[in-house]
Amino acid sequence: MLLLHLLACLADGPLPDDTALGGDDTATGGDDTATGGVDTGDTLPYTDAWGARYDCGAMDPADPAPLGGKVALTFDDGPTADVTPRVLEVLRRHEVPATFFYVGGNAADLAVDALIEDVVADPLFTIANHTWDHVDLLGVSTEDAADQMAATNALLAEYGVQPSFFRFPYGEGTCAQVDAARALGMHVTGWHIDTADWCYAMGEGWCDPGSYWRVPDEWRDDMVGHTLDQLVESDGGMVLFHDVWDFTANELEQVILEAKALGFTFVHLDDLGAFPRLNADRPYPFPWMGQACPADEDPCWQVENFSWCEPTTDAGDGICVLPCASQPCFSRDGAEASRCVTVGGDAVCISEAGPRNGDCEAMPGTEPRDVDGSRMCVPVDWER
Ligand SMILES: [Zn+2]
Repeated sequence: MLLLHLLACLADGPLPDDTALGGDDTATGGDDTATGGVDTGDTLPYTDAWGARYDCGAMDPADPAPLGGKVALTFDDGPTADVTPRVLEVLRRHEVPATFFYVGGNAADLAVDALIEDVVADPLFTIANHTWDHVDLLGVSTEDAADQMAATNALLAEYGVQPSFFRFPYGEGTCAQVDAARALGMHVTGWHIDTADWCYAMGEGWCDPGSYWRVPDEWRDDMVGHTLDQLVESDGGMVLFHDVWDFTANELEQVILEAKALGFTFVHLDDLGAFPRLNADRPYPFPWMGQACPADEDPCWQVENFSWCEPTTDAGDGICVLPCASQPCFSRDGAEASRCVTVGGDAVCISEAGPRNGDCEAMPGTEPRDVDGSRMCVPVDWER
């Protein structure tokens, strides 16, 4: 914690140089005062020399760690008449702010009408948009996705709420859909801390690896420990819960107590000191699996549990890799697809060679090779 706080202090001031990741950070003298010091003079989208976009990761947090010991709790998929009131009670008792990402179809249920009014009236809470019916938007047209967002906003407008934040179900969406959310005045936000509460809830406290692979084995029976472990690692951040499980309501108080005991403070999502990039709509250009990364900073773990920046040159270049023996690879809209290949005995997710990485030119220390039937960007010193 101390070291992380120190790093946070050192990082205070100019934002990290993104050029290694291909983000265009060219400062153009915009007025920073309204956005917590983030220069907003440049315009989205920002792309690298090969046209890959870095501002539209549906699952990415916008602000990189360390996060100054500040924590923002978020609850997705509600409201629910049985669990949400229990969550509100715990939050109010400890005076902890939270943001609720509503599914419009759930909010339209008359059984939660008074509940929504209760949430709206309390300055401790914020309501945000999580689509109308929680469909995986990757399989939906941009127009239909925009309709989903607009329908939920229209419903919330009846309560006097104009959401400032949108979160993609399953963290999956396209760059065009991210643009659609922004056009509706919403910041797109992923999360830093995945509690996997739904997985623990389904297993009555035990998150089965067959249900969800993103939980380290040592935390399979301990959601609170898993959550605190991640909070310490990133020194705060946005925490993903769901107010649809009794399990979540049962464990919430323990998370709050342990986080407070460790010195964390709870903030709103619109806290400019904690989340300047989120609120400036200018997300950090996190790499995804198989893409270039600065090996000394290694931002890869912030996007995928178990991922790391594998060095590819002596000059500090690397690529984000993710073991995939029993796990899927994820492809990021705006970048070349990543696939699971076996090189030198290890199965890892790496990028295909293609136009959006300049046929591997965007990743120093890699070369295009045919592996398992695909043309992939493989580190030159990896065994064939
Ligand atoms: Zn959801």
